[in-house]
Amino acid sequence: MQKNLYMVSLGCPKNLVDSEVMLALLEQDGYRVCEDPDQADLLLVNTCGFIQSAVEEGLDEIMALGPYKDKKPGVKLVVAGCLVQRYGQELLAELPEVDLFIGVDQFPRVATLVREIKPSKKKIIITPPSFIMDSSLARTISTPAHRAYLKISEGCSNRCSYCLIPAIRGPLRSRAMDDIVAEAGLLAEAGVRELTLVGQDVTAYGIDLTGKKANLPALLGKLLAGCRADWLRLLYLYPNRISDELLTLMAAEKRLLSYLDIPLQHISDRVLKAMNRPFGRRQVHELLERIRRMVPDAAIRTTFIVGFPGETDEDVEEIAEFLKTYRLNNVGIFTYSNEEGCAAEHFAGQCSDEVKEARYQYLMELQAEISLEKNKEYVGGTIPVLVEGLSRETDLLLEGRSEFQAPEIDGCVYIADGQCAAGDIVMVTVTEAHPYDLVGEIAGPAQKT
Ligand code: SF4
Repeated sequence: MQKNLYMVSLGCPKNLVDSEVMLALLEQDGYRVCEDPDQADLLLVNTCGFIQSAVEEGLDEIMALGPYKDKKPGVKLVVAGCLVQRYGQELLAELPEVDLFIGVDQFPRVATLVREIKPSKKKIIITPPSFIMDSSLARTISTPAHRAYLKISEGCSNRCSYCLIPAIRGPLRSRAMDDIVAEAGLLAEAGVRELTLVGQDVTAYGIDLTGKKANLPALLGKLLAGCRADWLRLLYLYPNRISDELLTLMAAEKRLLSYLDIPLQHISDRVLKAMNRPFGRRQVHELLERIRRMVPDAAIRTTFIVGFPGETDEDVEEIAEFLKTYRLNNVGIFTYSNEEGCAAEHFAGQCSDEVKEARYQYLMELQAEISLEKNKEYVGGTIPVLVEGLSRETDLLLEGRSEFQAPEIDGCVYIADGQCAAGDIVMVTVTEAHPYDLVGEIAGPAQKT
């Protein structure tokens, strides 16, 4: 008998990959996805839990789904992922409506664990993280058919003082290179045109493998040779591990997009030191000069955290000066949140919410002007765009993304004129620029890379 699954995947693309594995395993066990929790036999929430706002979002989702169990006897509610790994046993008492909690390593066993649920016996299963993704695991891609995430590593061995990820997800575990290439090949054969490589720190790839050397460029070389995807995109590059070898490859290989997502988090030496980031302002300046020299057309994205303990107005002004000097394409600003268990939780000089908000607004407004100026540079030019389909704003426009717009992170290109289908890569002449998005019309099919 067919059973219905209602699933919510929260958090980052890495978590989405775990959700896609659970989805495939449950489909193999007879479940079909339904859009309405009213129809579900199984309600599953894969949570994020590394900052308070993500924890609250997870708890809200779980509590919103609880009442569906009362409406239909026998419905099971399962919670997986980072929230479970972070809070463990205390969730059993807090969320009595949940039948099963599974930590970050248990999701490959989800089908068996769901079958074993006994309504009278709530269960929580958490083990120290050691799982590594494997291409032999089933996975149902939930993103549009033309794009997918490719997880190259699990965990993180950096020790940023504000971050709980290493405690939740464990130390860095890189996947075997051949296994990543095998999965990429399967995805490309299935029609995926854009593969986005993810890991907590993709530049650390390989440090834990034989040879103890970060070897992202070697992996990329193998991917370029062994998989036909048109676009390979990298997310989460750690600033002091961006090698000349990587930049040389990026400059030479059109299929490896000249898009660098480098979360800097701050630029003031004092704050970076307190954050336990092993680089300073000088190294960041050198890095950006090197990128501009070696990959002149690179689009650079970064993120900053404002309101870190001890941060002063002068530190924020350093970020502002940096933004004005380097005029990066995309910048995300986040306000610091104090997380239980992080070293920074006990730091002196905690900033008030008002101060954090004011600094956030100041930098966001400054960057919006810069992003608009940067986007105006594209007007009149013709750029390749991967078509996503009808616009989320209106059925009268199509929507796509250029090489410098990452899925679900950056803006998009609205296509106001011309014919194309989702998954096409077309040349678009840009006619209008906005701070986050561009507008254009189709000039023709993309040239072969
Ligand atoms: S590199 Fe990223 S995931 Fe790793 S500890 Fe630092 S902030 Fe957390």
